[in-house]
Amino acid sequence: MQVIPPQQITVLGSTGSIGVSTLDVLARHPEKYAVFALTARERVADLAQQCRRFKPQYAVVVDEARAEELRVLLGDEVDTEVLSGVEGLCRVASDTQVDIVMAAIVGAAGLRPTLAAVDTGKKVLLANKEALVMAGPIFQRALNKSGAQLLPIDSEHNAIFQCLPFPCEDLEAAGVEKILLTGSGGPFRTRAASELGAVTPDEACAHPNWSMGRKISVDSATMMNKGLEFIEACYLFNARPEQIEIVVHPQSIIHSMVQYRDGSLLAQMGNPDMRTPIAHALAFPRRIDAGVPALDLIAQGRLDFEAPDFNRFPCLRLAREAVNEGKSAPTVLNAANEIAVEAFLGRRLAFTDIALVVEKVMNRAPVVELSGLEAVEAIDFNARELAKQALAAL
Ligand code: NAD
Ligand code: MG
Repeated sequence: MQVIPPQQITVLGSTGSIGVSTLDVLARHPEKYAVFALTARERVADLAQQCRRFKPQYAVVVDEARAEELRVLLGDEVDTEVLSGVEGLCRVASDTQVDIVMAAIVGAAGLRPTLAAVDTGKKVLLANKEALVMAGPIFQRALNKSGAQLLPIDSEHNAIFQCLPFPCEDLEAAGVEKILLTGSGGPFRTRAASELGAVTPDEACAHPNWSMGRKISVDSATMMNKGLEFIEACYLFNARPEQIEIVVHPQSIIHSMVQYRDGSLLAQMGNPDMRTPIAHALAFPRRIDAGVPALDLIAQGRLDFEAPDFNRFPCLRLAREAVNEGKSAPTVLNAANEIAVEAFLGRRLAFTDIALVVEKVMNRAPVVELSGLEAVEAIDFNARELAKQALAAL
């Protein structure tokens, strides 16, 4: 019998919520997958522990001083070579030995390494939605050029992917009438608008169904996450905004749906556990064990659906405006949101002012073509400066 060597995987953002879930799935299949590289910005002790367990060839810590900390922690215990900086991240994302890259860095910081993986034709598992939202057309060009495969990890997009035929270049030709993007509505789904001004970061991060990093948790609370996902879906599935509808589904059991011309509505369901989409994308088109218990529909009992509230959650409206405007508008929306969320988490901004800051920046930043990566980074930088000014003026 022919022995197939394990596929080599780089996990960008391995100490985060998605990174840890990814390693949990990988650990179940050591004969199929080997860890090539792990990366983190902080939590060096956690990264050291992961290195001892998975023995990657490389570990990357963004900051050189912390990389040195990791070298000291690891000593002679493992042969892992420790690199630093964005160059280090790009190197382990694009190394010729790598087959699969999990892009699970949070925010715009993931753009360069994720693109490096796409440019070198890897199978790229995309959790880092901000990278795609800020640079959709750049990704599209890079994918066409390199032939890389981009598989969605975001549970909704992974569900949509599973409900579409494969490959699916043209939604209309496939008989798709609409994509129904579901969302739980976040921790403040039923909270009165008048109470939202005073909510704390910890309240915002207490998501009813998912345990996630703090940035995406705040995005879920403002529903900017659903807005970013709306834009993500347009890019991933080559969809026009009017082909996507947001449906609030508080239980997070259905992860999204595709409605076909013949009246069929296909849904992907499962317990809210990111290991399912991670395992799906890792093994696609095969299926592997993810460690997720089967969904018990009788215990679940009921599934509810409601329309999203664009008034209480203005970030949804802003994201829809950004996608309608196109060009650099999603880049600006994302950058302003990252600054505003950071300020909220640092208790320098009220929850309801997140949308206000984003809207101010969107009104001030010019809408221009995204000509290339440098242009995207300049637009991102400028929007962050505008957001800081908006914060200071509040
Ligand atoms: P997290 O905050 O838990 O982890 C982020 C990871 O990125 C960590 O390893 C951190 O060290 C690293 N990182 C942070 N800043 C960095 C920087 N400047 N440079 C390099 N590395 C950096 O976040 P998460 O919840 O795991 O989310 C990761 C991505 O996946 C986000 O884009 C998020 O939107 C997306 N996502 C997450 C979930 C989820 O369930 N957590 C679901 C869908 C999508
Ligand atoms: Mg999601």
